[in-house]
Order: sequence, then structure tokens, then C-alpha cells
Amino acid sequence: MKKLLALILAALLGIPACAFADTVVASFFPVRLLAEKLLRGCDDIVLTSLSDPQTGCLHDYTLTSGDLRKLTDADLFLINGAGMESFLEMVFDAFPSLPVADASEGIDLLPSESGETPMNAHVWLDPLQALQMCRNMAESLKAVFPDRAAVIEDNLALTAEELTSLDAELREGLSSLARRDIITFHEAFPYFARRYDLTVDAVIALEPDEALSAGTLAALMKQVVQLDYPPLFTEPQYPSLAAQVIHQETGAPVYELDPCVTPSEDSADIHYYEEIMRKNLAVLQEALGYTATERH
Ligand SMILES: [Zn+2]
Repeated sequence: MKKLLALILAALLGIPACAFADTVVASFFPVRLLAEKLLRGCDDIVLTSLSDPQTGCLHDYTLTSGDLRKLTDADLFLINGAGMESFLEMVFDAFPSLPVADASEGIDLLPSESGETPMNAHVWLDPLQALQMCRNMAESLKAVFPDRAAVIEDNLALTAEELTSLDAELREGLSSLARRDIITFHEAFPYFARRYDLTVDAVIALEPDEALSAGTLAALMKQVVQLDYPPLFTEPQYPSLAAQVIHQETGAPVYELDPCVTPSEDSADIHYYEEIMRKNLAVLQEALGYTATERH
């Protein structure tokens, strides 16, 4: 009804009707990426990301006035939840009647080791949890756009097939490794590790945007030696200097894992999430099938 009145008003005032198009705002890139799967064929629904897609994780993120402006046109706000959006109170205050879908509802959350949030918010890196996120978002999308419910339901079924087959592929691909422990750049992979029975020995930076102290670096190097040189994983969104230093000092190998928080040129592809996860699978197989020979 609100939309209809807006459209009539727009026609009377000569405002382009697209200003009142059905609009869904996702808080950040991974949520938008998964929501895109649910909105296949719904070209009349505008899906945007609140933060600039290149922002990556929303650790310590401060809302801009431009971000808030995007929410004025929104019919639904999709959030990751689990503490990723630390600015939520501000959104609730500014838009008390905006429907908000918490994608991580019902997911068994792990505690965070950083002081930032009590729970670890990187839920989307477990494909079956990503599917749960899609289920949650589909419910809200159907409630807000009941005329598109059948399409959204079909898209959810397709997404379920894609993500369960990805899960099977990862499970199979990671079933027999020479070792199962990793050191990651930030706290992004505990859910992935829980799903595929890997151990995150340590993270290089608990607060990913802060520089490492010499003491932290020294402690990490000691740990790397004690743990028999587990592979280190940098992330394309963050500098790899600390990992390179640890590598030079200890000989532990360095690889790159992508937490799928920023788009690349081919991210318009609806299968971008699966592509990134398959790339991570290949990297993990290479890194963990490895037998340490080059040691200092
Ligand atoms: Zn993060």
C-alpha cells in the first residue's frame, strides 16, 4: 500500500518511479552474494550493499551518511548477524519500522577470541550455514514480497542443491590430508574448520586492522615451531607482511585463503561463492598434503 501511494505521488509530482522500486539492502558483500542467489529472475527487485563491496568484513565499521541514505528506500534490510553489524542500534533508531532479516538466526555460534564481539560472525564460510542463511533470508523476502514467493522458493531449492553439493565436494576433498591444522590471518575460518574437521592452531591478527606488535609476532613464531610448522594463510583483503616475516624466520609455508568478503571482476557470477570455496579447497589440499622439508 505504501508503495502504491508512493507510485501515485511520484506520477503526480513527476518523480521517476524507479526511486520507489522494490529495494533490498544487504549489510555487506557475503550477504548480498547469497541474497543474489535467492533473487535470480527478480530483476524488478533492486539488491544493493549497504557498505562499499570492497569494505570486506565489517570489523570496526562506521556507518556513513551515504550508507544510511540507502536504507531510506529499503523494503528489507538483510544482515549477517552474530555481531558483524556493530552499528545495528543506530539503524534501528533511524528506521524503526524497517524489516530486518538476521541471516544467522538459528546457527550454532562459536565464541570469538577477539575483544570485538562475543561471538564469531564469519558464519557464511561453512556452506551448510550459508544455506541456513539463505533459508532465513528467503523467509523474510517472501514475507516482504509475497507476489514473488514462488520464484524465491524455487531459487532456494536451487541454492540448496548448489550448496549441499559444494559441501559434499569439500568433505570428500578434505577427508584425507597429511595434516589438519592451519594458522589463518584473522578469525574468519573457525566455522569452516568445524564443518571439515580442521584445527585452527592460531590466528595472526585477532584485530585484523591493527598492526602486530613485535611481541605477538615473536610468540606466533615460537608457536609455529612448537606446532611443527603448520601452513600459514594470508587473505587477499589484508596485508601479508606478518605471514611473510614468520615464513622467513621459521620456514613455515604461506598460502592464501579467501574469506569471500570482497568481489572480484567475476563476482557478478551467481556461482562466485562456490568458485571461491573450490579455490580454497585446492589451496588447502596443496597446503595440508604437504610434508615439511624446508626447515631452518
Ligand atoms: Zn572478518
